[in-house]
Amino acid sequence: MPELPDIVVYVESLERRIIGQTIEQIRLNSPFVLRTVVPPLTDIVGKRVIAVRRIGKRIVLVLEDEFFVVMHLMIAGRLRWIAPGASGKAPGTTLATLQFAAGTLIFTEAGTRKRASLHIVRGEEALAAFDMGGLDVLDADAEAFRERLLRENHTLKRALTDPRLFSGIGNAYSDEILHRARLSPIAQTHKLEPGEVLRLFASVRAVLTEWTLRLRAEAGTEFPVKVTAFRPQMAVHGRFGLPCPDCGTSVQRIVYAENETNYCARCQTGGTILADCALSRLLKASWPRSIDELG
Ligand SMILES: [Zn+2]
Repeated sequence: MPELPDIVVYVESLERRIIGQTIEQIRLNSPFVLRTVVPPLTDIVGKRVIAVRRIGKRIVLVLEDEFFVVMHLMIAGRLRWIAPGASGKAPGTTLATLQFAAGTLIFTEAGTRKRASLHIVRGEEALAAFDMGGLDVLDADAEAFRERLLRENHTLKRALTDPRLFSGIGNAYSDEILHRARLSPIAQTHKLEPGEVLRLFASVRAVLTEWTLRLRAEAGTEFPVKVTAFRPQMAVHGRFGLPCPDCGTSVQRIVYAENETNYCARCQTGGTILADCALSRLLKASWPRSIDELG
């Protein structure tokens, strides 16, 4: 699932292309992607884009007259941009296209499980319903982070990825953050030492900042095309069985619900292998089935 660094780079790429542009046409290839009925789709045709925002893992096109187009990519949703006259047409995975004078924005979703969504709402109040309330750690101080982290007792993996607690962090970057902080994914938030909380705060900021800079540099002036949760520069995420870049030990995993958590046993858990059935069950049990849907 695209997380904060990916979404920030998408937002910046959209800002450069569509701010000041008018929606000339909107077409739905998959009617189910649109989850709102009112206001009707036709209301946003002819409206100008005045800003692009991120709310958690959602991308919001702010239009004049307080119309908002809210896109949630979920796991497999992606955006593409086709400049006028460029070769390339909408792929078979297209959910919706928004046409501007400067080019066409294409919203795609691979696979058969259609979970990506498009909402059209009017008014800031209606838009506020999409804000899960997660703290934006890059704008927060250590005290605000500590308060949020310790608000409920959860495993660290669960706490970091809960969109009601923190904004924009999902399965991939939480693995990277916990590895950087040298903390176990199943450590309980209420048992953390004050120094561990500070280390985690520093790690969240460092990992999200580094990855945003890296993805921004990779995209350059082009629209981002390689948006994936699995990247060779990652330390542990998606690297089960491969060597930890810091100590060389094979990366481990805990499989739960539809996800898996990757970690280094030497760097993060004092050498303890967590990947047994009981721990998988524990993590799964602490996982509300809907949490990935919430993001
Ligand atoms: Zn290691």
